[in-house]
Amino acid sequence: MTTFSRAYFPALAASLGEAVADILDPPLCAACGMEPAEKHSLCGKCLDSIPLPSPPLCPLCGGENDGLFDACLECLKMDRPWSKGVAVARMDGLMASLIRRLKYGGETAIARALGSLAAEKWLEAGIDADLAVPMPAHWTRKILRGFNQADLTATVFSRLSNIPLRRPLKRIKPTPKQAGLDRAARLRNLENAFTARGSALSGKTVVLLDDVMTTGATMSAAANALLEAGAEKVVALSLARA
Ligand SMILES: [Zn+2]
Ligand SMILES: [Zn+2]
Repeated sequence: MTTFSRAYFPALAASLGEAVADILDPPLCAACGMEPAEKHSLCGKCLDSIPLPSPPLCPLCGGENDGLFDACLECLKMDRPWSKGVAVARMDGLMASLIRRLKYGGETAIARALGSLAAEKWLEAGIDADLAVPMPAHWTRKILRGFNQADLTATVFSRLSNIPLRRPLKRIKPTPKQAGLDRAARLRNLENAFTARGSALSGKTVVLLDDVMTTGATMSAAANALLEAGAEKVVALSLARA
């Protein structure tokens, strides 16, 4: 199993300066509170506990591929309007608990840690993009105390990857819970759920960030909205592939 290399961030910190140094020099590991690894938001033990998908990886979702076809069975069955997919981790173990703590516990340090891991994975994947766009709504859940951790994750990703952050996506209809629905119902549910505005998208390659990719129906609906608004290409980046 591959684990996160700790080699990327010193160079990154040197090239991007103080703002990044702040992000990458947290006092304590965001997951367990121990001393963090150098230039990381997590300690070495927690970094090594992030469950990564085992290769071969599916090029459309970044999850594990069964190896029989070019893409995993779920990606073969579903419309994938994006050109490539990258997943930071599997939705399991420490990653699942960090995402839950971020979504429901409002822990800022975790948003920073996940944003850093996403940037590291992105650099490792070696893909170019012009703009980074966070998934609205469940990502951009408006936190009652007036602070949005999910947006912070995207901001950290944007700074570390050096890809400008834009927020052209809007949810134009509230989406009922996807859990428990079959594939067709999920798609119906999401039809026209998003709209994207702004000439900034025209001709651009956009990296679309979401926390968890399950069937990919949400990612698909959002990617279609970006493409309809003029984006040239969408790359799907999820924190965890379920
Ligand atoms: Zn730790
Ligand atoms: Zn796939």
